Amino acid sequence: MSERELRQSIVDHCRHMNAIGLNQGTSGNISVRHGEIMLVTPSGIPYGEMTADMIVAMPVNGEYGAWEGPKKPSVEWPFHLDILRARPEVGAVVHTHAMYSTILAIARKPIPACHYMIAAFGGNDVRVADYERYGTKALSESVLRALAGRTACLMANHGMIATGVSLEKAMWAAVELETIAKQYYHTLLIGGPVVLPDAEIAGVIEGFATYGLQEDEGGLRCDVNSKE
Ligand code: 13P
Ligand code: ZN
Repeated sequence: MSERELRQSIVDHCRHMNAIGLNQGTSGNISVRHGEIMLVTPSGIPYGEMTADMIVAMPVNGEYGAWEGPKKPSVEWPFHLDILRARPEVGAVVHTHAMYSTILAIARKPIPACHYMIAAFGGNDVRVADYERYGTKALSESVLRALAGRTACLMANHGMIATGVSLEKAMWAAVELETIAKQYYHTLLIGGPVVLPDAEIAGVIEGFATYGLQEDEGGLRCDVNSKE
């Protein structure tokens, strides 16, 4: 994908996440790795007004915090950049204030292996990153700790983060995280979940290696153009 197409794809995915109820207002932000640069959403711009030109470019490994664009980068550029720096396999980061993920994050409840899909996030749980104020380096550090060995995390009293090798995969992961968060929340209302054993989750993770997770194979991804 060219940089131009990628910029437009970021705008499309922002609108998509609000349209499907995964986020609201100007909350949330998205970044994508494009070679040596990070493309990230501008701060505080309603997604309906956001254009490809407004997407901010920042060097991944160059001067920390340098940026280019007509608008300021998302206040959360530190965790977007730090994730891309620390995790070379990550191609995109989606941050949202999705309802059920955020409810669990406010209650500081990590998601256990209440459904086998927990394995899609790399292990037997999804952790809650310790609370730190939005936009801070401390928040970035807390998020990186919660993401150790995982592709997603909740953020205490704030929201959630999902990552992926591509923007489509990261958005897919964000949708799946919100789904399992909703399932877990409702299970808590009827006595709590039966949690799957670690060995079972390890087996599911092995199975996922051959279940549509390969690049360019369709499944396990979000297609904003799909009518499904
Ligand atoms: P930005 O509009 O600066 O991306 O901030 C939104 C947000 O979710 C902060 O955590
Ligand atoms: Zn936020």
